[in-house]
Amino acid sequence: MGRYTGPACRRCRRVGEKLFLKGDRCFTPKCAVDRRRTAPGERSNRRRRISDHGVQLKEKQKARFMYGVMERQFSNYMDKAFNQSESTGSYLLNQLETRLDNVIYRLGFADSRRQARQLVIHGHFTIGDKNTNIPSYRVRPGDKIAWKESKKEKTYVKAVVQDLPKRPIPEWLELDVAELTANVRRLPEEADLVTTIDTRLIVEFYSR
Ligand code: SF4
Repeated sequence: MGRYTGPACRRCRRVGEKLFLKGDRCFTPKCAVDRRRTAPGERSNRRRRISDHGVQLKEKQKARFMYGVMERQFSNYMDKAFNQSESTGSYLLNQLETRLDNVIYRLGFADSRRQARQLVIHGHFTIGDKNTNIPSYRVRPGDKIAWKESKKEKTYVKAVVQDLPKRPIPEWLELDVAELTANVRRLPEEADLVTTIDTRLIVEFYSR
């Protein structure tokens, strides 16, 4: 199955939660989840009891939608997580958080992970002086991420720079606003991985 290109809000309505896929719009009254609590295609007065499997599936889908990861890749992340000595859930989150598109979003270079993915694919960034256009690239401690010089004059980049100081940056990343560069200080630790995703349900889903 190919990458989902339909309306982002539909995904939030599907899992019944705000996944913040559309940047600033998610914080306005226009948010589709705030306006309509029902899943797409579901009649508003119909209530269904969700099985345990359904709850686990929903949590897995939520994580996938949030980070914009396809089914196969998510399953690969889980395979790797199961083969680690550390907590499976933490390792899964670690893999998702260190994806380049997520890092670009966390740094405030994009309003959403979707937008970050587009920027990466269109070759806006370098890592350690090398051109990188792979959203799933996993950053490592010591990586230096920078906007390409040729892109810095774009109107979009100038607008981003103005907003940067307002955004909180995770402690495992270090941002130089003047130079528009960032360093990966370390890998995210347990305390950095605060999330609304219940990884226990996802592990249960893949352990069946
Ligand atoms: Fe989800 Fe944002 Fe759309 Fe609200 S506005 S439904 S949070 S993508």
